[in-house]
Amino acid sequence: MVTRLYTHPIYLEHLMPAGHPERPDRLRALERALEDETFDRLDRQLAPMGDPETVLYAHPQHYLDNIRSLIPSEGLARIDGDTTVSPKSLDAALTAVGAANAAVDDVFAGRADNVFVASRPPGHHAEKVTAMGFCLFNNAAIAARHAQKAHGVERVAIVDWDVHHGNGTQDIFYDDPSVLYCSTHQMPLYPGTGAKSETGAGNIVNAPLDPGTGSETFRDAFTSRVLPSIDSFQPDLIIISAGFDAHRLDPLAEINLVEDDFDWATAELMDRAGRFSNNRLVSLLEGGYDLEGLAFSAAAHIARLMKG
Ligand SMILES: [Zn+2]
Repeated sequence: MVTRLYTHPIYLEHLMPAGHPERPDRLRALERALEDETFDRLDRQLAPMGDPETVLYAHPQHYLDNIRSLIPSEGLARIDGDTTVSPKSLDAALTAVGAANAAVDDVFAGRADNVFVASRPPGHHAEKVTAMGFCLFNNAAIAARHAQKAHGVERVAIVDWDVHHGNGTQDIFYDDPSVLYCSTHQMPLYPGTGAKSETGAGNIVNAPLDPGTGSETFRDAFTSRVLPSIDSFQPDLIIISAGFDAHRLDPLAEINLVEDDFDWATAELMDRAGRFSNNRLVSLLEGGYDLEGLAFSAAAHIARLMKG
């Protein structure tokens, strides 16, 4: 497999208050893990800045204008209890969008079989008109719509294994059956959404997990709820909202996954990408707040993307 990696130094300039878990060191830790020779073949690319017009695929103009108006010229500005912006945050967020869209373009142009985007800020909590949970723009949702608009595909599946429910992605596609949204997440946990009963237009598949869930139960949920939904949907593209905060070391949740679980889930999704979407798979970093858990889980995920 040809696997491309997008990242950019601007992602390190999206700053947070001291002690905030969603910190630039997350990407530094991942970068160190990717220095291993396993990753010599990775096609490393500098992420491009996204066109602000593409933000409007998932959010209205007034929302983009509002985010822009909240960016401080110095210091930090708080959007909600845990979502903060600094002077370079808009550039970082637009570059996260740009990399997600470029990744979609790459897999459709055949420049790569699959792509991992190591970006900040994350996106899956950003609803149509609400920035929250460390997220400004919903990168996965924008990339899905970009695939439909720029590449003419019908069906996009977004699989979200971040330990938190992707309320934003669910909100954006709740009445849009052209996008399948499948999520495994701890419940109860922030943001509180993600019950099995939330099914949208039949395109929302939530697989909530009890605190304390380990590998076996996670794999059962993935096998019994996520994978059959993908099989019947037959997506033209698979996008992963790849958070690594379901790792056992993560300080924000109580799910006990290990690196091998992310390797396994990646392989399962690559199998579906091979069957339905000519291997096209785009994976976007979401959460993951223990530096070691994040770095080694993401490395296992990327190594599997390269291996096939
Ligand atoms: Zn998360």
